[in-house]
Amino acid sequence: MIKNSKKYDVVIVGGGISGLSSLITLNNKGLKVLLLEKSAFLGGRAFSFEDQNTGEIVDNGQHVIVGACKEFVNLIKDIDSENKIIKVNNFQVPVIYEGETSYLGSKYFKSIFGLFISLARYKHLNLIEKYYLLIALIKIKFTDIDNSNFKEKNFGVWLNNNKQNSKSIKCFWELIIKPALNDNLEIVETNVALSVIKRSFFGKEQLYLGLPKTNLSSLWAPIEKIIEKGSSRIFKKTNVESLISSKEKLVGIKLSNGDIIRAKNFIISTSQSAAIKLLSDSNININSTPLETSPIIGIHFWFKKSVIKERYIASAGSKIQWVFNVSKNHNKKDNHIVISQSAAWEWIDKDKSYIKKLFLDELISLFPHIKVSDLEKYCVVKQPNATFRCIDNSSNKRNIDTPFNNLFFAGDWTNTSWPSTMESAVISGRKVAKLITD
Ligand SMILES: Cc1cc2nc3c(=O)[nH]c(=O)nc-3n(C[C@H](O)[C@H](O)[C@H](O)COP(=O)(O)OP(=O)(O)OC[C@H]3O[C@@H](n4cnc5c(N)ncnc54)[C@H](O)[C@@H]3O)c2cc1C
Repeated sequence: MIKNSKKYDVVIVGGGISGLSSLITLNNKGLKVLLLEKSAFLGGRAFSFEDQNTGEIVDNGQHVIVGACKEFVNLIKDIDSENKIIKVNNFQVPVIYEGETSYLGSKYFKSIFGLFISLARYKHLNLIEKYYLLIALIKIKFTDIDNSNFKEKNFGVWLNNNKQNSKSIKCFWELIIKPALNDNLEIVETNVALSVIKRSFFGKEQLYLGLPKTNLSSLWAPIEKIIEKGSSRIFKKTNVESLISSKEKLVGIKLSNGDIIRAKNFIISTSQSAAIKLLSDSNININSTPLETSPIIGIHFWFKKSVIKERYIASAGSKIQWVFNVSKNHNKKDNHIVISQSAAWEWIDKDKSYIKKLFLDELISLFPHIKVSDLEKYCVVKQPNATFRCIDNSSNKRNIDTPFNNLFFAGDWTNTSWPSTMESAVISGRKVAKLITD
């Protein structure tokens, strides 16, 4: 039971990656911190759970990083989880299109040079398409994206103006931008899409695709042990109901069980919609425009035999977007794959058995050595509000103004310049921790 009288330096509302990043940073500085998470697990939108039908532990969604996700890598180093990430150098993405596989990113040649070599060998585009793709990539490399005012607000128009035809879009741009921004290419903001490409391919960091070697919740498990050693605490299954203010200060928070907790500073590290709800339930006047969100679906299949040898494969021109070889990535002996579908509006409201059939048929048409009778079990994971959308001047919506100077917001949705990613969550969490300690 939490005592009403206990006073903390900082109370954090929300145990997703942003809240955990604030917690670790503040705890390392010797502050007494309390983190409150309403669900039974840490990790927020990056978590694992036991699926009731299969009895398997599955992730809520396949999570991937690129070499540019420096702050995320720093976080997992701080919590001794770095060995739980596989780094596939130079991306090495097998792309399957019309029955043929060709690679983006070279196994042997490093950095951007390797990407260009793989593009030269890429079978899915003809010479003219490759030429225009190269010109567009070079243009991105030499554009100062943050300080450019693009006349093409929507990326679809930019692609068109830069001579990218439907095949280049299908076999290159869509494979990267759709999962990275979880949205349709035509309407995402040009500056955000270009900065994904620039960060992924033209940054100073090593080029790689990073994947967890374990289920997502195992990544965060060491945090509780680190925190237990000091005076900070984590309470799960603890819902914050409202905020208590007095004049220009926030003085406490009220939990659903009626307990009140006081602190000097407060961090709200929930999603933007949960933060807005908490403030309005507390009758606090705010100035904020909600961001829209977009869905992701994961279709998990367990087969009697192996479907792909590779760690992952991207598919162009079929309904399937990306397939991840969970067994290989998690070093397990079964044949577990997950099909990850971004911008999944088309399927999010459909029945799970319908989704299973649709994607099983699609999978078999991509990999004819698999038969329906090879399927042992399946599970479909729907995440309707997986990420916020980078459309319609999203950067103007990435803040909430309140009258309190001891209330801070963290979360992937705050103004980090990154899209809705784990990297953005870590940056935001560390940033507010620094504001408090400075
Ligand atoms: C299916 C899926 C796939 C994804 N793939 C990738 C990927 O490949 N790469 C990548 O970088 N990112 C990916 N993301 C995005 C990434 O997971 C998020 O950007 C990141 O986890 C957001 O962290 P956060 O801390 O900002 O917010 P959240 O994870 O939303 O955390 C907020 C926490 O606050 C808690 N909370 C809310 N209200 C209260 C309350 N009143 N009291 C107490 N607690 C409360 C919630 O329970 C939650 O735990 C994916 C997301 C999903 C869903």
